[in-house]
Amino acid sequence: MNILAADIGGTSIKIALVDEQGNITRTQEVPSEGKRGGPQVMKNLKAALDTYEGYEAIGISSAGQVDSEKGMIRYANENIPGYTGMKIREILEERYHVPVKVENDVNAAALGEARFGAGKNYRDFLCVTLGTGVGGGIFIGHELYKGADGIAGELGHLTLYPRGNRCGCGRLGCYEQYASTKALVQVAQGVDPSISSGRDLFRRIENGNPRLKEVLESWLVDVALGLSSLIHIFNPEALILGGGVLDRPGLLEDIEKKVRENLMASFQGVVLQKAALGNHAGLMGAASLHLPSEGAEA
Ligand SMILES: [Zn+2]
Repeated sequence: MNILAADIGGTSIKIALVDEQGNITRTQEVPSEGKRGGPQVMKNLKAALDTYEGYEAIGISSAGQVDSEKGMIRYANENIPGYTGMKIREILEERYHVPVKVENDVNAAALGEARFGAGKNYRDFLCVTLGTGVGGGIFIGHELYKGADGIAGELGHLTLYPRGNRCGCGRLGCYEQYASTKALVQVAQGVDPSISSGRDLFRRIENGNPRLKEVLESWLVDVALGLSSLIHIFNPEALILGGGVLDRPGLLEDIEKKVRENLMASFQGVVLQKAALGNHAGLMGAASLHLPSEGAEA
């Protein structure tokens, strides 16, 4: 069975055919033109989907808050104006005559890792992605825990410092204001405004800049504080860390060392692992929406 999967973001849409084993073929990426609004995004999506055949279902991963029961966008911010209320499932089922499922991009990436990536051998685990923000997924019995309203897992809004920096959510001191790679780069830019990116920052640290090394150390402390709280709450078998920053050699080990310094002895059995699927996780998760749950088989 082939599933046509699409991963819709504010700047681009990735599309591919995915089979039950998670093999990806015919990948393409087109601009989503999110700033031009929801209807334009849907137009671009349909134009790309039109070029595919030989699939039995469509799985969609999308930016924004998704009502996966109704297959529509519950809320989208200014990155895609006019996307709130978009009935993606209804629109695509009418056009393509196959079952359509929709999930938000953070959940979809976590589902991809759970099914095909670093989570496939675990029942109870957490996925945490360190990116522009911090996102995640909580897996209990290999099922994504969604909560009463389908919006559980806002790990980035764990309060780390009660009187800390203002977060995009309106509250103070959220974890992602300290542990995201965006936060790391911003603090580093306070030391040296010419730093252009995370990659640039790491290059300068390697060249022996002690003040920037301190910035990194303090970021690692904050990252580990949040992760150890999560481990104490959920007692997971594994904690899977994603985000481009994890590609830096040794970073996972640095994080793990600090996490273990914070953990109670009885929680040390947790395994820390790097996410395996990179930027294909969302596509693979979108496809997995149509595959029978593995938790049910176990
Ligand atoms: Zn927040």
